[in-house]
Amino acid sequence: MGQIIIHVDMDAFFASVESRDNPALRGKPLIIGSLPTERGVVSTCSYEARKFGVHSAMNIKDAYRLCPDGIYMHPNFAKYKEASDRLHEIWGSYASASETVALDEAYLDVTETAGSFDRAREMAREIKRRTAAELGLTCSVGLAYSKSAAKTASEEKKPDGYFEIPTPQDFMNLVIDRDVRVLFTVGKRTADKLYSAGIYTVSNLLDREEEVIGLLGRQGTVLLQLARGIDDRKVVPYRPEDAKSLSRELTFQRDVHDYRLLEDVLLLMSISVVERARRYGLHGNGVVLKITYSNMKSITRSKASVRCDDALSIHRAAADLLSAVKKQGVRLIGVGIYNLSGGRVRQTTLDEDFGSGSSGRESALETALAELSRRYGIDFAGDRAYAHRIEDLHGVAEEMRLRRIFG
Ligand SMILES: [Mg+2]
Repeated sequence: MGQIIIHVDMDAFFASVESRDNPALRGKPLIIGSLPTERGVVSTCSYEARKFGVHSAMNIKDAYRLCPDGIYMHPNFAKYKEASDRLHEIWGSYASASETVALDEAYLDVTETAGSFDRAREMAREIKRRTAAELGLTCSVGLAYSKSAAKTASEEKKPDGYFEIPTPQDFMNLVIDRDVRVLFTVGKRTADKLYSAGIYTVSNLLDREEEVIGLLGRQGTVLLQLARGIDDRKVVPYRPEDAKSLSRELTFQRDVHDYRLLEDVLLLMSISVVERARRYGLHGNGVVLKITYSNMKSITRSKASVRCDDALSIHRAAADLLSAVKKQGVRLIGVGIYNLSGGRVRQTTLDEDFGSGSSGRESALETALAELSRRYGIDFAGDRAYAHRIEDLHGVAEEMRLRRIFG
C-alpha cells in the first residue's frame, strides 16, 4: 500500500490567536508585525487584510499604503508558541510520524494509524474538530497519498478547509492547467526561467519535457515527476526543539573569490536563519559558519555565546568568522545557529526585533539592507521573500554574484 499523509496548516495563525483572545479584532484587517510608524515587515495578517493585497514578508510601509485602516500589532510569540505546543501534541497523537514545518503547520504520516483512506478522512475531520474545540482556532487540512499532494490539498479550500487528493491522477487533473508555481520546489527563480521559455502551466511543462530538462537539469527531472504527481518523500519525524542547529547553506554556480560578496550574501542568509528560527519559536546561543572550498575541502568555524535572535548579530559573528578563514575560492557557504532553545527566555528581544524603534535593531537592519541595495542595485528591503524560500535566496545570491562581475 502507498502512503496516507495529512497536512495541517492553521489559518492566519498569529492573527487568529489575537482575534480569538480579543473579540474587538474579529472580522477586521489585522496585521501582525511592525507598526506603520516603525521599520520592518508583515509577519502574518488576517484574511480581511489579505483582501487589500497585504501579505507576509511585505514591507510594513507598503502594507500601510494598501491598508491604512488596518489594525497593526506587534507579535506575541510566547502566546503563539504555547498554542503551537498544544496543537502539535493533538495532531501528533494521530500519526506514526509527525514532521513540524512551522509553529502552525505539520505533516502527519497516518498510513498505519489509519490503515485506510476512509479512516484517514475521519481522522482529518477529528483533527479539525479538536483544533477548533480545544484551541478555538481553525485550520485547513489536506489528505493525500504524498506530502506535496497533501500540502496542495490543504491550500485548496483555505480557510477552515478540507480537501483530499487520493491518487497521482487526481493530483494531475487538479493542477494541469495551473501556473507552474503550484508545484513544490518552484519559486520565483525557476518560474522566471520557465516563463521566459514560454512554459507557464503544468500542461506546458509536460508537453515540453526535453526542453524542461535542458533548462533546469536534474531539477527539471524532479519537476516533471512532481507534475505527474509522483513524490515518494517520507514524513520525517521532526521536532525543532530536538535539532542541534538550524542553518542555511547555498552553493554558487561558479566558485567565488570575492569575499566582500560572501560577507554581503551572509547578511541575507542570516535574515533567513532568523526567519526560520521564528517559524519554530526558537533561538540559538552560538553562530556557526561553514565553507566548502573549490577543492571540496570543507571547514566550519563557530562562535559560542553570541546573541543570535536577530539577523545583524548573527551576521556580525559570521562575518568575523569569515574574515579569519583562509582566502580561497568558495563553492558553498553556510551560516547557522546552535544550542537551540525555546523562544520564551528572550521573548522580549524577539518582539523588539519586529519593530519597536526603541531597540533600533530592525531599523539598523533596514539601514544595512538599504546599503546593500545601493551596492547591488537590487531591492532587498521591500519584499523579503528570500528570507522564506531557499530557492529565492539562491536566486538573489546568484544575481549579486553577476552584478559584482558585470557591474
Ligand atoms: Mg498557516
